[in-house]
Amino acid sequence: VPVPAANTATRNIIDKMQSTRKRVIIFYGSQTGTAEEYALKIAKELKHRYGLGVLIADLDDYEYECLPHFHQDWAAVFVMATYGEGEPTDNAVAFMDFLDSPEFEDGADSIPNLKYLLFGLGNKTYTEFNGAARKLDNKLNKLGAIRIGERGEGDDNKSMEEDYLAWKDPAFDALAKSLNIEEGTAAEEADFRVTEISQIPDEKVYLGELSARALHGTKGIHDAKNPYAAPIIKSNDLFKIGTERSCIHTEFSIQDSSLKYQHGDHVGLWPVNAEVYVEETLKILGLSDKRQTVIQIESLDPALAKVPFPQPTNYETAFRHYLDISATVSRQTLALFAKHAPTDQAKCVLSELGSSKEKYKEVVSDHSMRLHEALEHASTETWSIPFEDIISSMPRLSPRYYSISSSPKLNPNAIHITAVVLQYKSAGNANKNVYGLATNYVLNIKQSVNNDSISYSAPVDAQIIAPPQYAIQGPRGAYARDGHFKAPIHVRRSNFRLPNSPKIPIIAVGPGTGIAPFRGFVQERVHLSRRYKEKNGADALNEWGKFYLFYGCRRSDEDFLYKEEWPEYGKELGDSFVMRTAVSRESEKKVYVQDHVWEAREELADAILNKRAYIYICGEASNMARQVEETLQRILGEAKQGTAEVEGAQEIRLLKERNRILTDVWS
Ligand code: FAD
Ligand code: NAP
Repeated sequence: VPVPAANTATRNIIDKMQSTRKRVIIFYGSQTGTAEEYALKIAKELKHRYGLGVLIADLDDYEYECLPHFHQDWAAVFVMATYGEGEPTDNAVAFMDFLDSPEFEDGADSIPNLKYLLFGLGNKTYTEFNGAARKLDNKLNKLGAIRIGERGEGDDNKSMEEDYLAWKDPAFDALAKSLNIEEGTAAEEADFRVTEISQIPDEKVYLGELSARALHGTKGIHDAKNPYAAPIIKSNDLFKIGTERSCIHTEFSIQDSSLKYQHGDHVGLWPVNAEVYVEETLKILGLSDKRQTVIQIESLDPALAKVPFPQPTNYETAFRHYLDISATVSRQTLALFAKHAPTDQAKCVLSELGSSKEKYKEVVSDHSMRLHEALEHASTETWSIPFEDIISSMPRLSPRYYSISSSPKLNPNAIHITAVVLQYKSAGNANKNVYGLATNYVLNIKQSVNNDSISYSAPVDAQIIAPPQYAIQGPRGAYARDGHFKAPIHVRRSNFRLPNSPKIPIIAVGPGTGIAPFRGFVQERVHLSRRYKEKNGADALNEWGKFYLFYGCRRSDEDFLYKEEWPEYGKELGDSFVMRTAVSRESEKKVYVQDHVWEAREELADAILNKRAYIYICGEASNMARQVEETLQRILGEAKQGTAEVEGAQEIRLLKERNRILTDVWS
């Protein structure tokens, strides 16, 4: 293969492989960064195990017209996450579309040289488990590419890491065989060089900013790679029941940004680690005294591992803003860190946790142990783990997505979210509370914005630096430089949209926080109704289809979300708006949304079968969404004078094909 002059900026993948002299390319489709991290893990293992030159590629960073020229003695690995119901991640959409393009009318002969491995990241609570990976596999297969090992399918709901570990060894063996290479003993090399530096102006040090552009204050497009530091307009409890349950409404200003959204979109919120974990992690790693030492990080193989966060930065910022020290530490990370144990005994303990699936579950995952807790469990002495190993092994903090609960028509300058604060007991210890990272960040935002006492529900484990301190005396907080508390967000488009014509009936089912996008939908319709009435008078809505909203809560006087707003919307929408609330804990027998859907079966079947109604389901995926769909299946089966299993299932399939059942669900 002739090697052209190195061209680092090329978007031609073949040029890039040749100029960097790589034989394996790892493509990733990633939404929150997890697939990208798995791509890096795979790259490192292939490099160390076989001495292979490996390139990592964001699917969005290249053009693929040259794919038919992929060399026979190369191989590709695809690491594909699925987002929502079987959709590819944003950075994989163009590539997936490209594989369907007319370029490939030759079908099976189009890319015969492409040999590939595939690991998918999905979640079994969704109907289309690993949908994006399966679709990619089919498409590649149809074009003549050859998969050289089993398709791996990780389940984020349960066993992602174990699924990966079970997949990788046979897959790597198959890859080695196909490339005709032997397992070697290439020395483990570090991916990064970390240098502590002292001569650097303060303003050049990143203290939590999430992109280079953010530091320089440029007004670039705000997206997942460049979140916007949105000022908080308002944050309040929608309900608060003891110290156990609360739900918070928060409004982010987008007035001075380039951010735009539509009803039904999602917003990604970038959280911050609780201060107590930052402290504990610095302590066990012996970095407390060096917390503000500035570090420069350099990638030793940029094609393989990009520096994962803005730098120069300092140790405490890396642990506060950039690395995920809150999640349960992975088995692989423990296995890697064992060699840095302060004592032989600690090394044994960590090695066992890293190698034994059972022991890891019993000691680490059932107790939701974070990095610092697992290290402390093995030894309370200082662990001198090189920071380059920490960067290589620890996941990055990733954004959490929320269904936007406002409409841009009524709120052009704000994005609203409706978030239930996550708190649960760890499986192995009923006394250990675990706090969801992003929702407790939202809780902290609420407390700071309102100057509430920080002892509220006392989740000391979940406290971040009180945001006002950022501005006044703390480090230069990334998102509070001008004294107002801000949080980093970006918008993700969705296909959860109302039909254009208000004449088409809507059936929306969203118990609990599943109501979030429907508040946006209803606001959208309120805006439209004002315009209709202005133009055509008070009777203008007579021709509108019905908007059925099925909502559910536990108690009507405790957790009924936005209870005061619905009658106001109802006044504007008149008879076209029908809201039915299933209250589950006020009667002997639980009443759920699907019970109300069943009660309304005649109207609903008529709306679906005769008036082309659109159906929307939002909220918890594994039980509620499935059961609502089953109920619809029964209704349609009965309306068609058949059974749920045959006629009902057939109608549901048709509705799905026509995008008239849309879901926005999470586990
Ligand atoms: P994390 O720190 O991420 O912890 C969550 C993890 O904790 C889970 O993945 C699970 O591994 C573990 N966990 C949770 N409960 C238990 C338990 N009982 N036992 C053991 N382990 C457990 N949420 C909303 O409140 N409102 C919304 O509108 C909303 N919209 C969403 C829209 C989409 C498209 C998606 C994908 C999710 C949505 N979510 C919504 C969920 C949201 O993204 C977060 O997952 C949720 O807020 C928890 O985030 P966290 O950072 O607080 O928790
Ligand atoms: P919620 O208050 O737990 O539930 C809302 C209503 O739905 C309640 O009346 C509830 O009844 C009812 N319900 C329970 N099971 C149902 C089912 N199978 N079908 C129909 N209705 C059902 O609402 P939430 O706080 O929004 O949480 C909903 C679920 O999503 C919870 O399991 C929660 O843990 C989860 N959640 C997860 C995240 C996350 O971490 N990703 C974020 C938010 C919520 P009963 O409770 O009385 O049975």
